[in-house]
Amino acid sequence: MPLDILTIGEALVEVMRTDIDQPLHAPGPFTGPYPSGAPFIFAAQAARLGMRCGAIGAVGADAFGECLLDQLQADGIETEAVRQLRDQTTGVAFVAYQADGARDYVFSLGAGGRLTLDMLLPELFEGLRCFHVMGSTLSMSAEALNVCREALRMALAAGALISFDPNLRPELLSAQEARIAFAEFMSAARVVLPTAAELLQLTGAATIAQGVDALLAENPDRSIVVTRGAEGCTVFTANGAASVPGYAVDEIDPTGAGDCFDAGFLSELLEGKSPVEAARLANACGALAVTAKGPMAGARARAEVERFMQRARTRG
Ligand code: ATP
Ligand code: MG
Repeated sequence: MPLDILTIGEALVEVMRTDIDQPLHAPGPFTGPYPSGAPFIFAAQAARLGMRCGAIGAVGADAFGECLLDQLQADGIETEAVRQLRDQTTGVAFVAYQADGARDYVFSLGAGGRLTLDMLLPELFEGLRCFHVMGSTLSMSAEALNVCREALRMALAAGALISFDPNLRPELLSAQEARIAFAEFMSAARVVLPTAAELLQLTGAATIAQGVDALLAENPDRSIVVTRGAEGCTVFTANGAASVPGYAVDEIDPTGAGDCFDAGFLSELLEGKSPVEAARLANACGALAVTAKGPMAGARARAEVERFMQRARTRG
């Protein structure tokens, strides 16, 4: 059976401080490992919404790798292209949250940073409906960028819709470097999911309106969805702009909001919904994502997301 959605990138586990304001430079309690990595959080949310989903990446042949693979299998994600490498350990992020919402990381990509061309199994692309790529993956290394470019070509040849979330990592690539590295993906994308800052940095535009105009001039059939944290998002298409208010929730753990949002938006679009309808469910997935501790814990099943949308309040 062909996949609805395929993604690629950094497989990780997260190990986090048990409470806020516990720094990483001194001994203290941790909780975890929790399965993580932006593309894998995305895949978990898409699968929980009922999409047939596949992911490409690598873990080590160790207990943390098992932790991630067990979760992917529990979610019914196609893991044929998730390699277990013998010479690398599974990627791990140690995370501390501060009271002001800031996050501190100690980070080792390990196997998570290793993407190779032989992972691009042709059968994953046969009949594929949507290929979703994140800028964080393109920023890891020249090798990862090269593999993602080949995957993009295979996805385009299969006729898949291309979706791109810039997920800029300034510590890995400057805006100027990212503009060059991301160009092929930005230009192929039918769906672009930036924050406002990412849109400005990647287009070099002075205002959101100018940035959106440039992207729509290049391809009028695309949707540009600018995410605005707790405020929700704004959907831009050739038909105009629509603000879609976010849901009022108590934020417990912000990790994964953008990834769950992306999955919500694409799942609905693939179900034939309009971009604005898709953005409503995406906002619900993003809001639910921040209400649970653990990167994938807030990614809810479709029935739960729909129940939440019926009873929750929006901010607008
Ligand atoms: P990430 O840090 O996960 O990459 P991001 O910066 O890419 O996130 P945001 O705009 O912060 O993206 O969040 C994505 C979406 O998640 C928002 O558009 C919104 O729908 C939802 N969201 C995020 N934070 C909150 C919040 N505190 N309350 C409600 N909804 C939220
Ligand atoms: Mg993001």
